[in-house]
Amino acid sequence: MKQTKIPLSVKQLIELDGCARCELCREFCSLYALLNENPHPLKFPTSTVAVIKQFRSILRDQFGLKAKLLRSKPKIKEKLWMLADALFLYCTTCGRCKVVCPLGIDTWSLLNSVREYFMNNFTSQYPTHCVIDFISNTINTTIQNSGNIFNVSNASRHDWALYTGADIQVKDNAKVVYFVGCVSSYQGRAQDIAHAITAILNSVGEDWTLLKDEWCCGHPLTISGAGNKAKSIAEHNLRMIRDVGAKMVITGCPGCYLALKHEYPKILGKPVEFEVLHFTELLNIYLNEGKLKPIKLDGKVTYHDPCELGRLGGVLNEPRRIINTFTNGLLEPYGSGMDGICCGSGGLIKATNPSLADLLAIKRLDMLMETKSKLILSACPTCVQSLSKVAMDKNKELRVIDLAELVAQQLGLI
Ligand code: SF4
Ligand code: SF4
Repeated sequence: MKQTKIPLSVKQLIELDGCARCELCREFCSLYALLNENPHPLKFPTSTVAVIKQFRSILRDQFGLKAKLLRSKPKIKEKLWMLADALFLYCTTCGRCKVVCPLGIDTWSLLNSVREYFMNNFTSQYPTHCVIDFISNTINTTIQNSGNIFNVSNASRHDWALYTGADIQVKDNAKVVYFVGCVSSYQGRAQDIAHAITAILNSVGEDWTLLKDEWCCGHPLTISGAGNKAKSIAEHNLRMIRDVGAKMVITGCPGCYLALKHEYPKILGKPVEFEVLHFTELLNIYLNEGKLKPIKLDGKVTYHDPCELGRLGGVLNEPRRIINTFTNGLLEPYGSGMDGICCGSGGLIKATNPSLADLLAIKRLDMLMETKSKLILSACPTCVQSLSKVAMDKNKELRVIDLAELVAQQLGLI
C-alpha cells in the first residue's frame, strides 16, 4: 500500500497520543446524542474520541513495531471504512467537542487533518465507498471544474440580482468587496440574504463591489480533507480582490469568512492584504458611526449562533448587539454562544447524510422554539435555509430570517 506523509503537525501528534479518553467530547457532541436517540446503521461509535482511538489503531497497524518486524501490514479495510463513516457521515465539523476538552486538544483541526490523511492515502483503494466517491468526485472535481459547489456555469453567479431585484455594483475599483459565496449566489432562499446585504450597503453609500469572477471560497475542500486543492482557488480569489484594490472584504457566509480570514493565510503561508469581516461586524461599525437609524421590531426574538461564526469564528457579541438594537430583546435558547448547536447543515452531512441532517435540524429547531419566540434569527445562509425547511412543517407562523434581512426590513429597504 502506497503511503504518503502524515499531514499532522508535531502538536497534533502529541494531541493524538495525549488524549486521555475521558469521553467528555462525546458527551458534548450533539450528533452523538442524536444518534443514541434514533436508530442508525453505524456500528462504530462516532465522536472525536472514537476517531482518535480508531486512527491511532490504524497508524499502529501501518507504522508500529509489529508492522516493521513482520514486514506485513494487517488488513485495515474495515477500520478505514468505519473511520470514513465517522469522519464524513457522522460529524458536522461543529467544533463543539473542541471547547470542552480538558486537555485543550484542538479537535476541530485534528479531525480535519485526519480527513486529509484519509483522502490522501486511501481514496484510490476505496473509490466505491459512497462518501469517498461523493467527496472526491462531486465536491472536489465540481469546485475545481466549475468554480462553485453546484456545478453550474460560474458566468451566472450574479444572476441572483435579476431574481431578487437587488441593485448590485460590479466596479473596477472599490474600497469594499462583498464576497457573496456559492449558497447565497445560487440557492433561492439564501439569495434574499444577499439582496438584504446589498440594500444596506447601498443605503449607507458604501463604496463596494462584487467580484467580476468570484469562485467558491474553498472551505468545502478544507473540511473534506482536500485543503491542498484549495490553493489555486485562494490565489484566484485573492487576485480578483487585489485587482479592485479593496481594503476590506465582507461575507454573509461564515464558511467564506473562515476561509478568507483564517484558511487563506495558512494555505498561502502569508497574511491577506485586506481586512475580512462578517457582515454583522460591518453592521456594528455602521452603528458606531451612526450610519443606521434603528427602528425596533415589536417583540422579542431568539438567535441561532452559526457554529462557524460564533464558536469557530469568534463573532458572538456583534449579532447580539444588532438584535438588541433592532428588536425588543433577545431570548437566548439552550445551546447558544460558545455552546451553540449545529443546525444540521454543518460539515458536508447535508449532502452525505441528508436524513440525519434533517433530524438534527428538527432537534435544533425544537430547542429554539422553547423560547416561545415566533421569529428565529441567524447570521448564515445555510443555517437559515436548514432551519426554514423544517420550520415550515412545525409551525406555519414561525419565521427564520438572517440578521441582514431583519436590519434591511426594519430600515424599510426590502
Ligand atoms: S475530551 Fe479531549 S482528552 Fe477527553 S476523550 Fe475527548 S479529545 Fe480525548
Ligand atoms: S465536531 Fe461536532 S459533530 Fe464532530 S465530533 Fe465534534 S462535537 Fe461531534
